[in-house]
Amino acid sequence: EPLLAVQGLTKSYDGWSKALDGVSMAVARGEFVSIIGSSGAGKSTLLRCANRLVDPTQGTVSFDGADVTRVKGRDLRQVRRRISMIFQHYNLVYRATSIENVLQGRLGYKSTVAGALGLFSEEEKRRAFEVLDQVGLADFAYTRTDQLSGGQKQRVGIARALVQDPLLMLADEPIASLDPKSSRTVMEQLRWAADELGIACLVNLHQVDFALEFSDRIVALKKGRLVFDGLPSQLDETA
Ligand code: ADP
Ligand code: ADP
Repeated sequence: EPLLAVQGLTKSYDGWSKALDGVSMAVARGEFVSIIGSSGAGKSTLLRCANRLVDPTQGTVSFDGADVTRVKGRDLRQVRRRISMIFQHYNLVYRATSIENVLQGRLGYKSTVAGALGLFSEEEKRRAFEVLDQVGLADFAYTRTDQLSGGQKQRVGIARALVQDPLLMLADEPIASLDPKSSRTVMEQLRWAADELGIACLVNLHQVDFALEFSDRIVALKKGRLVFDGLPSQLDETA
C-alpha cells in the first residue's frame, strides 16, 4: 500500500476552471517524487490537497491508511503531524533564531517563538540541535534567521520539517529562490532524508534538470492534468 495515494483528484477554486483535473498518483514510503510543470499547472494545489490545506472538489486522498478528505479534528491533526511542509520563501520567523524556528515545528506554524526557548524541555532542545546538525547548521543554532543566507534559511526550513519526524515532506518550489549551489545542497539534503531516514519527499520543481538528477520518479502536470508519471530516464525519452 502506498504512503500517499490520490485518486481522480479535481479542484476548482472558482466553480468552472480546473486547477486539477482527474489526477491520480501515489508516493511510496521513502520515495522521492518530483512534480514538474509550468506555472499554473496545478503543482501547488496537488501538494495542498495532500494535507488538506485545500479541499478537493472531487476525488480521494489517502495517507498512511487515513482518508485525508474525510478526517476531522484530532485525526486531521494526526495526519498533519506526519506530513511536514517546506516553502519557497522559507516561512521562518526572522526575529527568532534557527533553533527557535525548528522548535516551532513541534508547536505548529502559527505560534510565535522568539524568546520561547524556555518553554521546551532539554530533550526537545537536544533534538532540535540534532536536526540542525543534520542540515549542517549546528554553528548557526543561536543565530537569528534574518542573518542567514537564502540557502541557510531553507536548511532551517528542512530542519523544522525533520523535527516533526514526518513520514512525508511536501516541498513547494524549495529551490526557486536559490542560486544553483545552494539549490544543490537543499536537494541533496532532501534526498538524504529519503535515503537515510526513509522520509518520502514530494517536491514541486520547475527546474527539470534537478528533478531528473534527484528523483526516483517524476510526475508532470499540464493545465491540471497528469501528462507523465515515470522514471527520470523515461522523461528524457519523451522530452
Ligand atoms: P502551480 O503550483 O503549478 O503554479 P497552482 O496549483 O498554484 O499551480 O495553480 C493552479 C491554478 O489554480 C492556477 O490557474 C491558479 O491561478 C489557480 N489557483 C491556485 N490557487 C488559487 C486560489 N487560492 N484561488 C483561486 N485560484 C487559485
Ligand atoms: P546562498 O547561500 O543562498 O547563496 P547568499 O548568496 O546570500 O545565499 O550567501 C552567499 C554566501 O554567504 C554563502 O556561502 C553563505 O553561506 C554566506 N553567508 C550569508 N549570510 C551569512 C551569515 N549571516 N553568516 C555566515 N555566512 C553567511
